[in-house]
Amino acid sequence: MSKQPDFEPTKEQISVSEDAIEQMWADSKASMQGHNWIQYGTQVRCDTCPFNHGFYIEPGKILKGIDNQGYPIIDNIQNSDV
Ligand SMILES: [Zn+2]
Repeated sequence: MSKQPDFEPTKEQISVSEDAIEQMWADSKASMQGHNWIQYGTQVRCDTCPFNHGFYIEPGKILKGIDNQGYPIIDNIQNSDV
């Protein structure tokens, strides 16, 4: 005999507040800071850490460099006039 849990998430419980989104973005930004990012196609990988880590960017985006706070600068290829 199995009992189904009598539980349905309400909108309040599944919605994410703007503060939480800000915090998530701040966290993921913080994890991008201070690394030496190199682009391989749609993948951006860190070149300095002893372990492999990185993130994906959309096709059509390009890693332009690292800003002076240590964050990767991602731009659209069309917008970059290199
Ligand atoms: Zn790293």
